[in-house]
Amino acid sequence: MLYSVRTIHLKCIQHVIFRTIMCNTRKLSSGCIVHHHDVLFFQSKESKKRWQHAKLQRANFHNTQTLHLPALGLITVCNVLKFGAVFSGLYARRWWLNLTPEKQEQYRSWFWERSNIFFGSLGVFSLSLLTFYLTHLEEDPIEKRRRFIIFDKAERTALGQTIFKALLEFYKNNFIPSSDPMYSRLRKIITNIGRSNKEIFEHTEWTINIVNDPEPNAMVFSGGNVLVFSGIFDIIQNDDQLTFILAHEMSHVFLLHVPELYSYNVLDKIIYTIPTFLICATLSKWLALIVYMGTRLFHNILFTLPRKRRSETEADKVGYRLSARSCIDVREVLLFWELMDKYQDLTEANKYIIPALRTHPSHSSRQRVLARQTPEALKLRNQAECPELPPQDPREKLPRYLKNLEERYRDNPGISLYF
Ligand SMILES: [Zn+2]
Repeated sequence: MLYSVRTIHLKCIQHVIFRTIMCNTRKLSSGCIVHHHDVLFFQSKESKKRWQHAKLQRANFHNTQTLHLPALGLITVCNVLKFGAVFSGLYARRWWLNLTPEKQEQYRSWFWERSNIFFGSLGVFSLSLLTFYLTHLEEDPIEKRRRFIIFDKAERTALGQTIFKALLEFYKNNFIPSSDPMYSRLRKIITNIGRSNKEIFEHTEWTINIVNDPEPNAMVFSGGNVLVFSGIFDIIQNDDQLTFILAHEMSHVFLLHVPELYSYNVLDKIIYTIPTFLICATLSKWLALIVYMGTRLFHNILFTLPRKRRSETEADKVGYRLSARSCIDVREVLLFWELMDKYQDLTEANKYIIPALRTHPSHSSRQRVLARQTPEALKLRNQAECPELPPQDPREKLPRYLKNLEERYRDNPGISLYF
């Protein structure tokens, strides 16, 4: 993947603070999907508050809001902890190497005489972390999967708002005016998703901002803010595909993916404090760096990246259901992933990316997963009393879609195609 410097900057903002979609935990996350008499439907926990209408407006980023700092503070503390472990480890090593062999021997004896205390404390620390983990498991409102979440609803919303405002500030001179037809197109789609899934969406005021940027990207933040890059309109072939992408982003919201990601991020940093200190205190600088990087890579391959890929698959499944109820032609979604896959093969983009290092599943596997969900999506579509699917098989449009993409990205064939 080729990234411009500005894109890398954006990716950094997204990764360092919040990678992509922020959830409207306060207003949106109280809905759930339940099975009842073998019929799948969406049902809200709080029946009093129902979706009434989606009021769409352009965001005013000068609007100030009270921020809840504990969540941001916790993330900052964990980063300080990480660097503290590195620097204190390096300092401890230098101090140790400056000691005479006799003095070192004395400290060794001192340590082993009190080893029970040290190992006992380590045991208590591990037990405390385990208790912390087990007491912070929270079910998401849709898939009902228990997730490790350490931020409360107010903190999650505040975090989303913080990131949203940071991006608004970053792109403040690059917004497309709200009179542009792209706004009404998005407004129509978002309203349609909300109306068709009214049991899951409570009364919400959405804001839409479109950044003039060729990178195809879309984000939904806590508080009902939608941020779309104009490049998204080059990648999608019709409103059905755009509906799915927006529903996918909203699903990240409902499924609490970002708070989950950052909760694990905090936990990982706490867990790695002692090993990081020991690595820096016992190994030479370069060896410590190699071991540290290797450990992180191993951790990412084993835990972080599979978790991210699983989140994408979950958001695809839920987004597929939300958009099916919005009466789209669900075959267009399968076609979209097939198109992405074919285009990627054609441009040889990401050819050398190792599957274990991917943050997103491959396009073909996303298509396969959704193909398995199609009978359920069609059932939801019928329940929503949507019009019959057009008789023409959308797959016949694939060559034309592929040609469109080639023309649009002739100057930038290696563009990132992940959502
Ligand atoms: Zn996603």
